[in-house]
Amino acid sequence: MSKGLDTTQDGQTRSSGVTRRRFMKGAAATAVVVPAIAAVRSSRTEPLADAERWPTWKNTARWGEWVERPDDMQPALERHVSADVVIVGAGFTGLSAALELARHGAQVIVLEREFAGFGASGRNAGYLGGGVALEYDLFLKDIGKERAKEIVRYYEDAVPFVEGKLKEHGIDCDYNQSGLIRAGIHPSQEEKVREGVRASAEFGAQSVFLDEAQMRARGIPPAFLFGEYTPRGGTLNPGKYVMGLRRAALRAGVKIYEDTPLLSYTEGSVIQVNTPRGSVNAPVLMFATNAYTPQLGLLADKVVPLRVSAIETEPLSAAQLKSLGWPRREGIVTAHWTMESHRLTAHNTLLVTTKRLHYPYGSKTPNVPDYDQYRELRIALHDRFPALKDIAVRACWSGYVSFANDALPVVGATGSQQNIYYSAGCSGHGVASQSMVGHMIAQRIRGIEPPLLAALHHETPSTLPEPFRWCALNGALTGASAMDDWLNRRVRDAANQRG
Ligand SMILES: Cc1cc2nc3c(=O)[nH]c(=O)nc-3n(C[C@H](O)[C@H](O)[C@H](O)COP(=O)(O)OP(=O)(O)OC[C@H]3O[C@@H](n4cnc5c(N)ncnc54)[C@H](O)[C@@H]3O)c2cc1C
Repeated sequence: MSKGLDTTQDGQTRSSGVTRRRFMKGAAATAVVVPAIAAVRSSRTEPLADAERWPTWKNTARWGEWVERPDDMQPALERHVSADVVIVGAGFTGLSAALELARHGAQVIVLEREFAGFGASGRNAGYLGGGVALEYDLFLKDIGKERAKEIVRYYEDAVPFVEGKLKEHGIDCDYNQSGLIRAGIHPSQEEKVREGVRASAEFGAQSVFLDEAQMRARGIPPAFLFGEYTPRGGTLNPGKYVMGLRRAALRAGVKIYEDTPLLSYTEGSVIQVNTPRGSVNAPVLMFATNAYTPQLGLLADKVVPLRVSAIETEPLSAAQLKSLGWPRREGIVTAHWTMESHRLTAHNTLLVTTKRLHYPYGSKTPNVPDYDQYRELRIALHDRFPALKDIAVRACWSGYVSFANDALPVVGATGSQQNIYYSAGCSGHGVASQSMVGHMIAQRIRGIEPPLLAALHHETPSTLPEPFRWCALNGALTGASAMDDWLNRRVRDAANQRG
């Protein structure tokens, strides 16, 4: 059987977990709520920014926290070749799987549509985190407490896994093992943060509550009032990390073809993958395409891509750094409905991400700038660091995370011979976990079933069909943003009153 990119085959065979009545109710509600909230939002946002005012990553690619086309681009595939395993996608997942397979002597081919790290792996916020800030509420009711503990262990174990791989492959990616803080910016968030500490303890993640005095004693900037601190993990330069994996894979004999998109594939005991000017035959195919997977005709009703953006400032001066404090440079995320993340990089820039999420109609992933998101991120930067209000934004970029309805990873095998493996649904927590899941899928391909991989198997609820999906998702995201905006206004008003 042949699969092309336009097919709509579902990689999972079980039926939907969402009833027709549930989604019709949701869609009807959002049809009313979305335009209303959109109207409220558009009435108080600035006019669309001129593209010229927003620098793109291309201007400053050599020092920023993301990757651009490498100087040693690997040649595109231009003939017919064979391998033991063909992997599609050269991000954390694909490269980690390739490394593990090559280590055990397999001949591995990686096909990458653009260049290694082009996806989320080369343009994320760089938080190497475990269970902190997981959406417990979203998945708990579906899988129960014992299963949730295994899921949290999966995220927690992924952190030392990556730390080990950095050492093993000698990857210098400015890793700062600072721990991470999920902070509140308004007293009304305290209960949510304390609940996070309680849930972490219950599910086996280690964290402590820091009150205002403890936050100030650590030198955390004053906008962040209290927080859940986890000593596990820290921050790294994701561009350097993914390029380190790429170098290690090439050293290990993995053949990476860049500028080489998969166009179609055939199922069977030998799979043929077709690209524009070549093809690969292999008994095993792995899709390490995360947010891009639905476009390949797989998991189209299980996961959706969400656009996430980031801005990075010019380097802070010595005086600005001194005024900021923040000596350990812990990565900070906020307890908003859609979290903000703020961190200081090794080259003394401030990196601000998330805050707004957007679902593009039809699960498309256009590689376009998102000026609305950049403007919102700049507002967040000014709100949290008022002393830096004149600092210039030197780069902005957007990428895609993959989200399932239950916020759990989507990992499994499909095809008539069950020899087509896939990984998606990173939920925006993939620096650690996608690296480990790639490694675990490679073990599974070698015939070893890691217990934590088995723990991930579950029935992913189906998403709604379009246009209900677009309405429901963007309605929920806009609603979350509206609640966050309301809270931000209260924080701003209180600051203005203080003078
Ligand atoms: C702005 C942003 C901030 C984030 N911040 C964090 C964070 O701080 N911490 C965290 O844990 N996670 C974060 N994430 C999520 C994290 O980056 C992802 O979970 C992770 O990188 C996913 O890795 P991956 O290898 O599975 O997918 P990707 O890195 O997306 O790789 C998939 C690859 O598949 C390729 N591809 C697609 N289609 C084809 C085709 N037809 N043929 C060949 N190749 C194809 C793509 O070009 C891409 O390179 C963030 C994501 C974004 C976008």
